[in-house]
Amino acid sequence: MIIDWNDIDTVLLDMDGTILDRHFDDHFWLEHVPQRWAAHNRTTIEYAKEHLYGLFRSQENTLNWTDLDYWSDRLKLDIPLLKREIEHLIAVHPHVVEFLLFLKQHRKNVWLVTNAHSKTLDLKMKTTRIGPYFDGIISAHQVGLPKEDDRFWGKLQEFVNYTPERTLLGEDSETNLTTAQRFGIRYLIYISRYSSKITPRPSEHFQTVEYFNRLIPPQGTSTVSLISTNAGCPA
Ligand SMILES: [Mg+2]
Repeated sequence: MIIDWNDIDTVLLDMDGTILDRHFDDHFWLEHVPQRWAAHNRTTIEYAKEHLYGLFRSQENTLNWTDLDYWSDRLKLDIPLLKREIEHLIAVHPHVVEFLLFLKQHRKNVWLVTNAHSKTLDLKMKTTRIGPYFDGIISAHQVGLPKEDDRFWGKLQEFVNYTPERTLLGEDSETNLTTAQRFGIRYLIYISRYSSKITPRPSEHFQTVEYFNRLIPPQGTSTVSLISTNAGCPA
């Protein structure tokens, strides 16, 4: 894929896993919540994990998945409070600020577009102070649909004025890249190093980068050439 930044006006970036380390979210839902739920319900952690993982899976691809009020009510735990207990794990991925500064310098319209709930967003913006780098922040809860829904990207245009053929989307969810592709967003980038704790693997369907600095062109030029990950080359 060749990216000529002269052809791009708008950049849409996902939050968890894309610009922030998903280790926080993975650790929170897979370890921290089961621990607290087990203590609260006097069960073993093994039982809590089995029970909760099943509940989580049942709400995948819906807005409930990221709705902290839904989970507080369903699990009878103060989920926002539990998040604050491990907020030291919230971290911005390497090279993200450098990329955001590049976008600002070139006057791109930059939006954070996330399925995250407003309470998660507040905590993460307060902890990372990354909000001011964006022209705006949109939660799927405002849009009323998750990004996994094909109708999301069209509905997003009621909130963000963007032309799909002149837009770049960065995501760590191949499902969301697929719905965006069906809507016609042209530049689709998969972030493979979504967590600091995983070994990244390129997508078989989408152009993959580990870090966003790969999208910054050499000084004085506007073009970046990316190795096609479909060709089986190491990314
Ligand atoms: Mg994500």
